[in-house]
Order: sequence, then structure tokens, then C-alpha cells
Amino acid sequence: MRLAVCGLLAVAALSAQPAQPAPTSTLFEGGRLIVDARRPPIENAALLVVDGRIVSSGRKGRVTAPPGAARVDFTGKTIMPAMVDAHVHLGYQVGVNFSADNFTRQTLVDQLNRYAYVGIAAVLSLGTEPGDLPFQIREQQEAGTLGGALFLTAGRGIAAPNAGPGTPELKAAAYGVTNEDEARRAVREQVAHKVAFIKIWVDDRNGTVEKLSPALYRAVIDEAHTLNTRVIAHIYYLADAKELARAGVDAFAHLVRDKEVDQELVALMKQHGIAQMPNMAISENAIHAAAPAWLGAPLLREVQPAAVIDRVRDSYARRPPEAVARAQATYAAMEKSLATLNAAGIPIVLGTDDGAVRDHFYAYTAHRELTLLAHAGMTPSRILDVATRATAAFLRLPDLGTLEAGKRADFIILTANPLDDIANTQQIDAVYTRGRAIDRASLRALWR
Ligand SMILES: [Zn+2]
Repeated sequence: MRLAVCGLLAVAALSAQPAQPAPTSTLFEGGRLIVDARRPPIENAALLVVDGRIVSSGRKGRVTAPPGAARVDFTGKTIMPAMVDAHVHLGYQVGVNFSADNFTRQTLVDQLNRYAYVGIAAVLSLGTEPGDLPFQIREQQEAGTLGGALFLTAGRGIAAPNAGPGTPELKAAAYGVTNEDEARRAVREQVAHKVAFIKIWVDDRNGTVEKLSPALYRAVIDEAHTLNTRVIAHIYYLADAKELARAGVDAFAHLVRDKEVDQELVALMKQHGIAQMPNMAISENAIHAAAPAWLGAPLLREVQPAAVIDRVRDSYARRPPEAVARAQATYAAMEKSLATLNAAGIPIVLGTDDGAVRDHFYAYTAHRELTLLAHAGMTPSRILDVATRATAAFLRLPDLGTLEAGKRADFIILTANPLDDIANTQQIDAVYTRGRAIDRASLRALWR
């Protein structure tokens, strides 16, 4: 029965056809079930899915399936909710080629399938999505005519001229505003498209560009909030973070990186309810003097072409030791800042910055980020909560994040327990979206 269901799904995944709800009921039995990462898992559990939604869960034997329900035995395995990544930049890299010319429907659909493959149910692309294509894809997914990870977009982000994304290939996608009228008009244009967030960049890129001024980001935040839209800021400097907090920004993409956070910033973040996206992985890329072992991770090799991984591996031979030492010092401060913010109860959400620069891997990086959060001192259960419920709540995706009754049946079956070691989220046996198993073998064959 399960094989038959998978066979149907293969076609859906490959052609990005609608992810229709499963026509039948399925009872998953026998393994460990993480319904909500804030609570202990249910051992020897049962999970009932009907028409793509969770109906009930509990101990095996206590959940009654309707007659004719399919059964999946997941004894020895763990079911966890699918993850959510709130900071990606889709559309720029295809194979080894990194270019704005890659920003096509085919690229986006392929990448969304790769996210789904690794167990990510939704992504937010953060301000480098030009034109109408992102909104068309979002609408087709909402209408149920296109599959893959759910695509949320911030459309075109806002910065001072030439001071948006740090990578030349992405720069043209952002607005470059020089006065309040332009800033407010840019916000209105994007809100008209119902963007999930307004993205701003407040960074001088190590003194090379002029950053968005307080007068202009205050105008952006004011206009966006008037139109019931939240603003997320790329930040670098502690002083800017404080001023943005006072201006009422809603979230930070990246930790501050010139210093450690201090108690004044923590207090401001609490006062204004600001969420923090740590984005450890994009900073981790620079801290190694030699190729890290995780470049051999099987899950990475499944979703990334070998040529891209090889290019990353080769790049470590050319890194100046001083640059590596500087990056390590910055990274150590980031880890301390994250520990401070987490201990203070600041909402932490998952983001990777995938695609922001060439070879910052799509899809796999979210799993790497979890390991980095653990290295910074967060517990596996806390990290799972960040990667699932907390980020889904942050993106106002009420159907995702936990496996409570009524939610979408989007989950991962793992062959190892992520509560023992968070790296076990990479030990994927199956991914279900709307109650149906993605045909991962066919996707792998397609990518080879
Ligand atoms: Zn970014």
C-alpha cells in the first residue's frame, strides 16, 4: 500500500504537480513521535493522518484508524514536524553557475523541491526576488497547483543605492532609495504584492557603501507598519541594531557581528518584541582553515552537485590565515551573543541565508545550522522547537510547526533520534507533505 502511494507521488514531485491531499487515511505506528518540540516525545506512538491533515496522536493502540486505513510501521524511527527556513535567497545558483540570469520559474521550482526533499516545508526568500514570478509561484502553491516547499517572499528589499545584498549578482533586485518618498513608495509597491515581510539592509559592508540612514529606515518601518506588514533588517553593527530596535523593527537577520550583544540591546529587543535569526552557517563558512568534514555529509551530496561541493572543498586551500583568525573571533562572539539572547528568552528563529553568496548551499544548510546552534549551547529540544514551531509561528504559518490535530501532515521520519544528537535530523528515512510521502528516490535520480 505504501509503495503504491509513493508511486503516485513520484509523478507529483517530478513535475511539480499539485500536492493534493491523500485520498485515504494512514496510521503511522510504533516509533517515537515529536508532536511539539517543547514537550517530551511520545514513545511507541501512533499518528493518524486523514486527507493530508493530522487527526490524532497518542500511544500505539490508543489511536483508532478508520476501516481501510493504510498502515506505516515506523518502529525504531522518529517522526518530527517538517522544518521552516526564514532566510533564503532562491533563484541565483544552478549547478556551478551563480547569476541573476538563473532567476527563472524552472530554477525556483527545482530549488523548492530540494527544500522539500530535506524536510523543509516552507522557506522565506528575503528581498532578492525581482518581478512578478515569485508572486505567481506563491499563488500557484496556495491554489494547490504547484508542490515543493511553500514559497514565501519579501519581494524586493530596500537599501541605500548599491547597499543591499553584499553579492553583485543579487544587488539589482533591491531598491536603492535616497529619500523618504522613495522609501515609502517602495514599501507600498511591495505590500501591494502581499509580501510576507519588508526586508531592509543596514550595513556599510566594511565601509565600502553608504548604509540606509535612520531617517529612511524609520520611514520604511512606519509605512510598513501602517500597512500591517513587518520589517526584517539585515544588520552588522551593534549600534545600528539598537537604533533599529528603537525604530520598532520586527526582526534581525544575522546577529550583530562587530561586538557581542549587550544588556541594552537585549532590553530593547524584549521591549519591542524583536525576533533574532542567528544565521550561524553563513558566518561559519569563513572560520575553517581546511575543508570541514561535513562536506562529506550524505544528505549534502544528495541535494548538491558534486562539482559545487568540490569547488567549496578546493577553496579552503586559498584562505589567508589572518582572515580565518578574524572570522573565528567574530564567530566566537556570535556564539556568546546567541547564548545571551537565548537565555534572555528572545524569540530565536531559523534562517540560513542560502544562496546569498555563491556556493552557500541551498536546502542542506538548514541541517548544518542546527548543529551550529547546538555548538553555541542550545539543547536539541530547543533547537527542534526553533526549526519547527517557532519559525512557523514567526512566519504566521499556523498549519505548520507541530503535529497537533488539525495541522498539515508535513513531517520527517528519521532513522535516528534528533533529541540524542541534533545532527540526526539528517538521517532522513522519508518526508511527508500533506500526508503523502515525497518520492525522494525519483528526485535523486533526476538530480544525478
Ligand atoms: Zn540574506
